[in-house]
Amino acid sequence: MILDRVLPFARTIMEKAAGPNDIVVDATLGNGHDTVFLANLVGPRGHVYGFDIQKQAIINTRARLKEHNLEERVTIFHSGHEHVAELIPTLHHGEIKGAIFNLGYLPGGDKSIVTTPKTTLQAVQSLFDILAPEGVIVLVIYHGHEEGAVERDQLLSYLTEIDQKTAHVLQYQFINQKNHPPFIVAIEKK
Ligand code: SAM
Repeated sequence: MILDRVLPFARTIMEKAAGPNDIVVDATLGNGHDTVFLANLVGPRGHVYGFDIQKQAIINTRARLKEHNLEERVTIFHSGHEHVAELIPTLHHGEIKGAIFNLGYLPGGDKSIVTTPKTTLQAVQSLFDILAPEGVIVLVIYHGHEEGAVERDQLLSYLTEIDQKTAHVLQYQFINQKNHPPFIVAIEKK
């Protein structure tokens, strides 16, 4: 397949937005796959701030980082991503080059614990405020479950109204696949 699938494309965007020595955010740690990717992307002098509300996600992410010897590059907050602006040191406000959200539930975990429209929107708005110019927020939207469809609709209605003078907003989606495959929305701050 020539076209990038959704998850690799999310990473391609992050690779364009951030690199060695940068500050980035993993807004949904989950099992830590993106955290490891981001920690490698920013290198030993960069930093990743990660958020998750579930103890199991924190445990899984810490274990994965340990396995790759990357713990020192990541600060983990056992807290909702809606608190990004309070928890990320003010020193780094305005310096964040990239943030990724993988919405929905923890794979292999409790499927009743999902990201919610209200807190996801709060987090996107707060993160946008503390992004660097040309910083990017990537959201992978899973809309196959009921709450995911509501989250998708609320996010899209907010994102499509963002003033084009302040941000470029992109949607990347395969439109002929069955079973509600995930899609990407990316917001680049001008
Ligand atoms: N990126 C992860 C990976 O690479 O394994 C997968 C993330 S998983 C699809 C979604 C995660 O979002 C779950 O672990 C869930 O606990 C977390 N979550 C739900 N609400 C949250 C919130 N308000 N703030 C931060 N994380 C949240």
